[in-house]
Amino acid sequence: MSSNLLQDPQILPRTRPQVNARTTMRANVFHGPNEIRVEEVPRPSAGVGEAVIRITLTTICGTDLHILRGEYRVKPGLVIGHEPVGVIEELGEGLTGYNIGDRVLVGAITPCGQCRACLSAQWAQCGHGEGVEAIGGWRFGNTINGAQAEYLLVPNAQANLAKIPDELSDEQVVLLADNVSTGFSGAESANIRIGDTVVVFALGPIGLCAIAGAKLMGASFIIGVESDPVRIKMAKRMGADVVLDPKQDDVVAEVNRLTSGGPMWQSRHSVCKRRSRTVCAV
Ligand SMILES: [Zn+2]
Ligand SMILES: [Zn+2]
Repeated sequence: MSSNLLQDPQILPRTRPQVNARTTMRANVFHGPNEIRVEEVPRPSAGVGEAVIRITLTTICGTDLHILRGEYRVKPGLVIGHEPVGVIEELGEGLTGYNIGDRVLVGAITPCGQCRACLSAQWAQCGHGEGVEAIGGWRFGNTINGAQAEYLLVPNAQANLAKIPDELSDEQVVLLADNVSTGFSGAESANIRIGDTVVVFALGPIGLCAIAGAKLMGASFIIGVESDPVRIKMAKRMGADVVLDPKQDDVVAEVNRLTSGGPMWQSRHSVCKRRSRTVCAV
C-alpha cells in the first residue's frame, strides 16, 4: 500500500520542474587550439524574439575540427556546434506559431530574415539589420554560443525554427541543419536545369548531398569523382550515374569523353558550369 501511495501524484512533494529551476547547463566550450572541454556554463533564457531549445541531438561538424585545430578562429569561452535538433523550452515575446514542447530543427545559419541581405535571399550574408555582413548568417558556434550544449538560445527565432513532423526521428532530420543544405546550395548556385549533366568532385557528406540536390533539380546525368570505395558506393545510391576514381582514371579525359567535348570549367562558389549545360560542382 505504501508503494501505491508513493506513486500517487497527489501526495508527491510539490517541486519546481527541474529544467526551469536550473541556472547552469553542461556545454562544450572552446578555450584555444586543442583545448575544448565540457563544463558547466550559465543556462540561457529567452528574450524578445528569441527561443530556448533543449538539445536532443547535435553533431560534430568538420568545421568544429577546424576550430579545434585553431584553423578557424572563434573567441575563447564560446560554446561550439551549429547543427541542432531539440524541443522548445522557452519562447520569448513576439513569436507566433510555436508552442513549448514543439520538436524543432534549427539551421546552422540563423539569419534575421529582415535585413537587406535577407530580403535579397542572401541569408548567409545576413547583416542583422545593418545591411550585409560576410558569412554573418552563421552565428552558432561562431559569433554566439552554439549547439553542443544542453540548451541553445535561438536568435530571430520566428525566422529560424522548423517544426519536425512526428513521423520523422531526430536522426532523420539532423543533417538538414548543415550538410544537406550546403550540398543543395551548391546545386542551386550552379543553376542546374532539367536535362543537365553534372560533375561533382570529392564525395564526402557535402558532395553526396550535392549529388542528391542535382538529381532533385533535374540533372539527367551525374558524374562523381572520388576514390574512397565506401563513398563511391554511397554516391551511386544518392544518384550518381558514373563515379570516376582519380587514382585509376584520367578524370579530365573521361569527363570530356562522357560529355562529348568536356565542360567549360567556370568556377563560382565551388561550382563550375558549362555553356552547353554541363555543370560541375567541386
Ligand atoms: Zn556543420
Ligand atoms: Zn538578415
